[in-house]
Amino acid sequence: MQHVDLLIKNATVITMNEAREILYDCAIAITGDKISELGPTKDLESKYSSGKTIDAKGKFVFPGLINTHSHLFQVLLKGLGRDKVLLDWLDSSVRRAIWQIDEECVYYAALVGCIENIRSGATTVLDFMYCHGKAGLDDMVIKAFEDIGIRGILGRAYTNTATLPADCPCELNETEEMFFSEVERLAEKYKNHPRISIAIAPGIIWDVSEEGFKTIRSLADKHGLLITMHTVETEDDDEYCLANRGMRTIPYLEKIGLLGPDYISVHSVHMKPEDIKIFKDLDVKVSHNPVSNMILASGVAPVPEFLKQGITVSLATDGAASNDTQDMMEVLKTTALMHKLHTRDAAVVSADQVVEMATLGGAKTIGRAGELGSIEPGKKADLFIYNPVTAKSIPVADPVSTLIYSSGQANVETTIVNGQVILEDGKILKVDEREVLLKLQEVAASLRERTKLGNTQWGQRVQVGSLR
Ligand SMILES: [Zn+2]
Repeated sequence: MQHVDLLIKNATVITMNEAREILYDCAIAITGDKISELGPTKDLESKYSSGKTIDAKGKFVFPGLINTHSHLFQVLLKGLGRDKVLLDWLDSSVRRAIWQIDEECVYYAALVGCIENIRSGATTVLDFMYCHGKAGLDDMVIKAFEDIGIRGILGRAYTNTATLPADCPCELNETEEMFFSEVERLAEKYKNHPRISIAIAPGIIWDVSEEGFKTIRSLADKHGLLITMHTVETEDDDEYCLANRGMRTIPYLEKIGLLGPDYISVHSVHMKPEDIKIFKDLDVKVSHNPVSNMILASGVAPVPEFLKQGITVSLATDGAASNDTQDMMEVLKTTALMHKLHTRDAAVVSADQVVEMATLGGAKTIGRAGELGSIEPGKKADLFIYNPVTAKSIPVADPVSTLIYSSGQANVETTIVNGQVILEDGKILKVDEREVLLKLQEVAASLRERTKLGNTQWGQRVQVGSLR
């Protein structure tokens, strides 16, 4: 008998392979970080002994969802700065908080953000980290990735902190040169890490000079890094770019050579036909963040048109300050509903297309289609086990529709990343979850005190402290 590390048996597996097979009474053999075989339970059980066996009878197994855009530090700011459009929201919450956000803040926010990603089926998250009021904060996000067990991409971003409000002075004021040397340090440090990688994340069109963008392109080419940027989330990008760089945003980015198959365009809401053609021609990838776009009233990205043109679209939560969760299950349903409503066409984005965007689309977006996005032999063992026996989900006629329209975090029972079980039977294995949640509540309450941030309800300022 041969040995495997982990055997999942008796499962209904939504493979997302080329033929989109759904396999019943199926077993998944996992060796090290990879799926080694898939087949009928009785065949694999007689062939393999296993270090650990999970009986998934009555349950579904999906490939792990890939969340291609978040700002984990914003978990600190969940619920603040509400009822405002993008730039007003930034000015009234995030930009007033950055100067006081320290290592402890970032670490606990990132841990909780990762826990919610894991609990909602995500096995990979791309964190667009632009909070650098102090040094060393990227390393705290990466420490959270390492400690919790998720697959993480740290998108090292740049924000000119000198432009933050004058009464919120930062300890650290990075120049573009300092940003580039940090990118190089991180790229070098994590180049061979099994779960963690680095991307370059210029914040938005007005954050970086033309020379800076050219340096970013050469750094990406040199180290094989993805580039990701907020791109035409609102009309402000084109307004700025026309006034200051003489062209609209996407044609400008094309002209200076920033776009390419390794460029992840976050949001891509205010797209002109010319922009869509550029994305198609250059194989630019899109990160679609429907919940955030709705909260900030940014608009509706032309996702049906992207799909029609064969442009790769992935799904994401965005940061918790403009979501106000990290729940990928909500993103799935919202994606389908948003486009149906917007086009008055109920067939415009289907459940199967939403699952494709969240799995295969995500894998392609982060340049890992050969390793992630489906449950197939040879791919990384990144998946989640879904228990459909909840009032929200039963009865199930079809696991794909159930996942998109009738699901929540309560359905996600077990999550496996890189062959390691990190959520099992509803329990986060690598940290004391309750302690981490209570700690974040305290850290966030203290941050609100120091920054004077907070909400008013019915004219009264409200503040919640420790919940112990
Ligand atoms: Zn964002």
